[in-house]
Amino acid sequence: PHMRPEGAVGTTLTVANFKGGVAKTTSAVTLAQGLSMRGHRVLVVDLDPQGSATTLFGVLPDAEVEQEHTAMLLFSGAHEDLSYAIRGSYWPGIDLVCAAPLLFGAEFALPARQTRDPGFEFWRVLDRGLDQARMDYDIIIIDTPPALSYVTINALMAADGVIMPLPPSALDFASSAQFWDLFSDLCNQLIRSRGQDKTFEFIDVLLSRVESNDAASTVVRQWVLEGYADKVLPIEIPKTAVTATASAEFGTVYDLPRGAMNAKTFARARDAYDRMCELVEQQIQAVW
Ligand code: ADP
Ligand code: MG
Repeated sequence: PHMRPEGAVGTTLTVANFKGGVAKTTSAVTLAQGLSMRGHRVLVVDLDPQGSATTLFGVLPDAEVEQEHTAMLLFSGAHEDLSYAIRGSYWPGIDLVCAAPLLFGAEFALPARQTRDPGFEFWRVLDRGLDQARMDYDIIIIDTPPALSYVTINALMAADGVIMPLPPSALDFASSAQFWDLFSDLCNQLIRSRGQDKTFEFIDVLLSRVESNDAASTVVRQWVLEGYADKVLPIEIPKTAVTATASAEFGTVYDLPRGAMNAKTFARARDAYDRMCELVEQQIQAVW
């Protein structure tokens, strides 16, 4: 029922997983749209140099994105607050910080700054850079590259909540565990050694691209449920042509006209995303 109360800062969600192709970007953009349709003001921060979320918003990373539209100038130190990079999008209620291949430069700029100044905390640049956005937006959604890079570490350190999309395949399951092990090792080395700590309000494992009639995925789904227990969102996003078609048209299920697809498949996909948005909204409201 409730919107962000006066005085509460906006909540930051980071969508992350080591692997590519697990539906990080699809989940991030669909969530942004679903949450904006529920009346929240949303900022999407694309931190994947591949710029897939940027592309889904109709902006071409190669042709239309300059440094000043991305987080690059924050990571290089030219700006301390990310506000400079925010632009509107075609979707009412959603603003955007773009990404493009030039954002790869952050992987060199951040360690270089650390070398020049040992007191520099490279992992907190984004967290500090979102101060203004946390006032201006209810929800900030960060899409990340498929790697535990300097940029991804910044995205996790800035996050109140984490969403990890995970298709129920054995290799994806194994690599997701590695992701969390590596991240917690890093936290121990970087942060706890300085007496700081990183906790999340919530961590959600989102079963994505689920093929319902696939025996192997049924087995792995069981591992996921046992391994991640109550962190697994009680919803599965089915693998459907609807989602694939939507991204081929540079949009999501919320952009497609209802009549354009097989009505039953469309309803199944759309209902799953609606439920995902509702569950995530409830967790955000619990933080407020
Ligand atoms: P990531 O950001 O993790 O690399 P994407 O969101 O780009 O993953 O998704 C990878 C591919 O899988 C895209 O082509 C996307 O359209 C497709 N995809 C994602 N979710 C689904 C789904 N539920 N059903 C069918 N295709 C999907
Ligand atoms: Mg992606």
